[in-house]
Amino acid sequence: MNDCLFCKIIAGEIPSEKVYEDDQVTAFRDINPVAPTHILIIPNKHIASINELTSDDETLVGHLFTTARDLAKQEGISESGYRLIINVGPDGGQVIYHLHLHLIGGQKMRHPMG
Ligand code: AMP
Ligand code: ZN
Repeated sequence: MNDCLFCKIIAGEIPSEKVYEDDQVTAFRDINPVAPTHILIIPNKHIASINELTSDDETLVGHLFTTARDLAKQEGISESGYRLIINVGPDGGQVIYHLHLHLIGGQKMRHPMG
């Protein structure tokens, strides 16, 4: 996927502040943070959105969440709390079509769900 921004970040072709990477996932700080901690956790494999998931991806998706849990602890926000958000499609506010989990915390965030 040559023209995918997040694939380029994984490949190191575009700079980012990576906070974690392994053979399945990469995590880096959002360029436009909405809270003191705002990290994006993405699969290393290009998956455009939740809509494109297959049953083969279930372990990978689980790993996105356990990575988010570990990074929340590393950031010191496990107990104060945080949000995990996945935007899907135009009405869901998805702008980048490479699946990503937002880890947002460090202050209470205004959100339509309260
Ligand atoms: P979404 O609206 O869920 O598709 O979120 C896309 C997110 O990617 C936004 O929060 C952007 O601030 C973030 N973003 C866009 N470009 C970059 C980049 N080069 N490095 C880090 N985060 C980025
Ligand atoms: Zn991609």
